[in-house]
Amino acid sequence: MKGIYLILISVLLFLLPEISLCQNAKTENLFIITLDGFRWQELYRGADSTLLMTKEYTPNPEELKQKYWANTAEQRRKLLLPFFWSELVLKGQLYGNRIYGNKVNCSNQMWFSYPGYNEILSGYADDDRITSNDKINNPNITVLEFLNQKPNFKGKIAAFGSWDVFPFIINRDRSGLPVNAGFEVASGSKLSEREKFLNELQSQVPSPWSSVRLDAFTHHYAMEYVKKYKPRIVYIAYGETDDFAHEGHYDAYLKSAHQTDQFIASIWKYIQSTPQYKDKTTLLITTDHGRGTVPIDTWRSHGRDIPGADEIWYAVIGPDTEPKGEMKVQAQYYQNQLAKTAAAFLQIDFTNEGAGALVQSMMKTQ
Ligand SMILES: [Zn+2]
Repeated sequence: MKGIYLILISVLLFLLPEISLCQNAKTENLFIITLDGFRWQELYRGADSTLLMTKEYTPNPEELKQKYWANTAEQRRKLLLPFFWSELVLKGQLYGNRIYGNKVNCSNQMWFSYPGYNEILSGYADDDRITSNDKINNPNITVLEFLNQKPNFKGKIAAFGSWDVFPFIINRDRSGLPVNAGFEVASGSKLSEREKFLNELQSQVPSPWSSVRLDAFTHHYAMEYVKKYKPRIVYIAYGETDDFAHEGHYDAYLKSAHQTDQFIASIWKYIQSTPQYKDKTTLLITTDHGRGTVPIDTWRSHGRDIPGADEIWYAVIGPDTEPKGEMKVQAQYYQNQLAKTAAAFLQIDFTNEGAGALVQSMMKTQ
């Protein structure tokens, strides 16, 4: 009998380093942020010269060149995404610059939005059931729903999206999570003045798209909610980059990416100036899919038939992440690893069957 206990104890001791990984973690809150279909090419190299010089995609190149053009990739990406390349790079980590062989890919074989968001949030590709962008309630449990079943996080989670499919991806009906997406308005009994104004404005400003609202609404609805309720876990899904790209508006795609960078900067600034969040909040940022590069027009598109549309990236900043900046080691990561990693920051083991492994390097080993 004693022998069995000894074996048990040694097994537990063996497991300890794994368990203690996050025991000293400082992260108490988590923000997951996505930019729909934003390419790693622009994240790491900034504005693309060919697309910038193609009249069809950029009718007024001079204006854009003044804003975002410089001779080196390092200068260009900093002009386009100043938060990523002046702040996050110094304090966090960026994955997916394929120039260094640091690769992040979708593991789903669809390479479009719903399968991508399902993979990010539920931790595994579901190519049997998630095969379209249709408004079908997700049969999979997302990490948000999973965490909402934990006493520390129950009722302290909220999601905001520009695309009107998010209530289905997050399965609002089953999970009961608050989701404000598409053209939904802020609701509840104690609306702030800004929320009332946003509700009014949203009905007055025509969106270019029928299923996606402009990201400024999503961002400000999210921030108003965060200021009011101080949720511990927030998901914000920006959408413009994908829609402008589909339409072939490279100028708007770049401006939108730049604006989203500024939105994220303001979230980080708010976090670091608010006692409940300061130095105890991790931000995970990623995208649902990539886009094409060759032939040139495929930058507008993605999906299984577009080579490279499975190439993605992710970034992280927070108190438990070492400031390694741009990851330059040869490695292969997958979209399915983020859900488990997100939960691990909160010292929770995300046990969805088939979920991808932790991105260990994102977390300090203590
Ligand atoms: Zn798309």
